[in-house]
Amino acid sequence: MSNALMATYKRLPVSFERGDGVWLWDTEGKRYLDALSGIAVCGLGHAHPAIQKAICDQASKLLHTSNLYQIPLQEQLGEKLIGLANMQQVFFANSGAEANEAAIKIARFHGNQKGVQNPTIVVMERSFHGRTLATLTATGNRKVQAGFEPLVQGFIRIPYDDIESLKNVAENSPNVVAVLVEPVQGEGGINIPAEDYLTQIRQLCDENGWLMMLDEIQTGIGRSGKFFSHQHQGIVPDVMTLAKALGNGMPIGACLVSGKAANLLGPGNHGTTFGGNPLACRVALTVLETVEQADLTTRAEVLGAKLLADFADALIDVTGVEEIRGQGLLIGIELEHPCGELVLRALEQGLLINVTADKVIRLLPPLIMSDKEAEQLVQTLSTLIRDFLTEQSE
Ligand SMILES: *Cc1c(COP(=O)(O)O)cnc(C)c1O
Repeated sequence: MSNALMATYKRLPVSFERGDGVWLWDTEGKRYLDALSGIAVCGLGHAHPAIQKAICDQASKLLHTSNLYQIPLQEQLGEKLIGLANMQQVFFANSGAEANEAAIKIARFHGNQKGVQNPTIVVMERSFHGRTLATLTATGNRKVQAGFEPLVQGFIRIPYDDIESLKNVAENSPNVVAVLVEPVQGEGGINIPAEDYLTQIRQLCDENGWLMMLDEIQTGIGRSGKFFSHQHQGIVPDVMTLAKALGNGMPIGACLVSGKAANLLGPGNHGTTFGGNPLACRVALTVLETVEQADLTTRAEVLGAKLLADFADALIDVTGVEEIRGQGLLIGIELEHPCGELVLRALEQGLLINVTADKVIRLLPPLIMSDKEAEQLVQTLSTLIRDFLTEQSE
């Protein structure tokens, strides 16, 4: 591997040449079943015909103008997104971290306008929000922060899925202006909160004049079995961030607002050169239309339920499996032991998975995966888990 690249990633010894649906081929011609979608990005799988067409067609017309001008594709995408989310406005960025930066700026702007001294945002333990200075500060993982001090001011952290801690904040922290939370924690280990967690946060935000800000960067665009994961709980946030699957591989992020957070920022308050360019918007529009037309949201729900049931069956008599959990196609299999080495073993078997939070096998398969492909996933992975846990107990 070349030394030309900063060593910021511990890369696996494989590189891919092409893809088709849920399949990838490496430079040696070996085929892999992709159960990770480039970390929840390629929800429509690889080389989807509609995406190919959108990219080629738009590339032959116009890639970039500037936010100095009107961009009709950006307006169309904005209308589409706010319709799907039942929210009011959107700002387009290029990544998840940037979408969250916009959310954090909105929270502070909201607080400063209300005259709050040192506006503070509540964030969660084990959360992940990105790698910029503000978003790594918001992230609940010391490994992400270590060495980058001084961190950004204006955040307080509480345990995830613990509404009593948030009530405590309401009583004791007058500077709070917003709560930033993932509806399901992705990097943190596919942590699914209590059924009424978001509803209770919504209520506390309303009572205290806080913005409810949801990071749906990993959970959004149909993967959870609803278009946005918070729709499982029937609430609408004030701020929602998206990225990952929104572009299916074309870099794009979005920060949506409604209610108190709408009509807040004006000219000069925020901006980006690339954000919302015609190419990215055209592709994202195609992603949304494809997810809707093929009803991939329902597919994610049905396939997710099947995978959970099939894994439960396949691993029923295996000791060392702590829990199998999921929401749609966000699936976590937690083992009793750290199991990072399973990633390499799966790779050898032609299967792409991830391990996060040390002990949680994370599966984020494309929404277009067939039943047969899902059965192959269950079979290959269950065997790997079984063998691994047998070795551990010897
Ligand atoms: C991936 C992710 C981010 C960061 O997105 P980038 O595009 O890598 O900046 C933020 N929040 C969540 C929940 C994510 O999964």
